[in-house]
Amino acid sequence: MPSDSLVDSLGTWRRSHYSGDLVSVPPGQEVTVFGIIASIRNQGRITFVILLDSQGLVQITIGNDADEALQKRFGELKEFSYIGVRGIPKKFPKAPGGVEIVPSQIKLLARPKTTPPFGLFSKQVPNLETRMDMRSIDLRRPAVQEIFRIRHDLLNNMRAYLSGNGYLEVTSPKIISSATEGGAALFPILYFDKEGFLAQSPQVYKEQLVGAFEKVYEIGPIFRAEESRTMRHLAETTSVDLEEAFVTFEDVMSTLESLLVSAVSAVQKKHTLPKNKLSTDGRFTKITYSDALNVLDKDGAHLDWGDDIAFTSLKVLETRIKSPYFITHWPTSTKAFYIKPLEDKPEMSESFDLICGSLELASGGTRIDSREFLEQRLSEKGLNPRAFEYHLKSFDYAMPPHAGFGLGLDRLMMTLTGQENIREVVLFPRDQGRLAP
Ligand code: ATP
Ligand code: MG
Repeated sequence: MPSDSLVDSLGTWRRSHYSGDLVSVPPGQEVTVFGIIASIRNQGRITFVILLDSQGLVQITIGNDADEALQKRFGELKEFSYIGVRGIPKKFPKAPGGVEIVPSQIKLLARPKTTPPFGLFSKQVPNLETRMDMRSIDLRRPAVQEIFRIRHDLLNNMRAYLSGNGYLEVTSPKIISSATEGGAALFPILYFDKEGFLAQSPQVYKEQLVGAFEKVYEIGPIFRAEESRTMRHLAETTSVDLEEAFVTFEDVMSTLESLLVSAVSAVQKKHTLPKNKLSTDGRFTKITYSDALNVLDKDGAHLDWGDDIAFTSLKVLETRIKSPYFITHWPTSTKAFYIKPLEDKPEMSESFDLICGSLELASGGTRIDSREFLEQRLSEKGLNPRAFEYHLKSFDYAMPPHAGFGLGLDRLMMTLTGQENIREVVLFPRDQGRLAP
């Protein structure tokens, strides 16, 4: 096995403390810490190494009166090396974290062959594409890590809210046999000797599951072969999907609102978020699709009834309507086959989108619960009802009335962290131009 003669093995060393715990270590107690070197500053008689671990920073200080072998070891350190340090922590208010360690032993566990074009705390960093090409290194920067710590807490809080309110977390197949959100954005795959697809949404499965469990949710990947490259679309993204029996779109709109208010306020208690439109304690605004068109009209941004409200129109509405807001009662023709039309006005549907700023965060609605009607809507949408037989069968055995929504987790994260490009809030983003890393 080729080895770097300068590099030590981990041996029996194990971490005794994280950086964040060092302030409370009793005086005189030796600790073992591990981490990555964020910076090295040599001031002649004294050298400071700033070590970063998953909890924060600790300063390692060595003077030129220290043991010679130890000084030599220190001289060999570079930024981005991984090291272990043993020594006694001392309170030192000027150091990051308020503690410094004067080491008695040090292990160089891994050292870089090459260093990246940025430091762990650099303000100036290369452009997005360069960083995404070396994303695993980009992710070592604490500023980037914070995004994923926020995501972790957001997910924990959403799960807590949903299970606390009686929703069962489910996992549905991601390799499926038919389109759910329209044919265009599908990824076909070779499934043994058949054609399969990557799931555009868990729609049909979450609907089938409300017949059994009444209230379900899924947090998982969805796949869309998006043709245009935008700051808010990826080919693989995460959605928070919810479906519930014996309720309508009005009820799930309230559920979505309460879920977001609850999860976002919990995250805000733990993290400093940039000022964002979701940090509201008030209720979300509601406007019908037709009223939204009137607002656009007044701004000289006319749309014909039945048109989709595209991003450019949402940009206009952003200046007129307080975010976050729901647009309700969309034309049936703009919505997927499973959305229920109004009984007395079938050209309109029991549907909503949740918008924040100019970003669509979620779509939802009451679902059609009759097989015959679903078949008709599938045909109208140019989809083949026979391809959905496995789904339609559930409706032959009766399905409860139900409603639900799909919320884009990565779009929600953009809103919460103030990122303009969705790629910044995804560990390893996938788009038309990127399949690796
Ligand atoms: P858009 O009109 O913005 O393309 P959509 O209406 O096609 O979105 P839905 O089918 O309603 O998307 O999916 C539910 C939610 O999932 C959306 O409101 C959005 O937040 C998110 N979403 C959908 N497609 C993508 C994507 N390609 N990348 C990131 N998030 C997405
Ligand atoms: Mg939508």
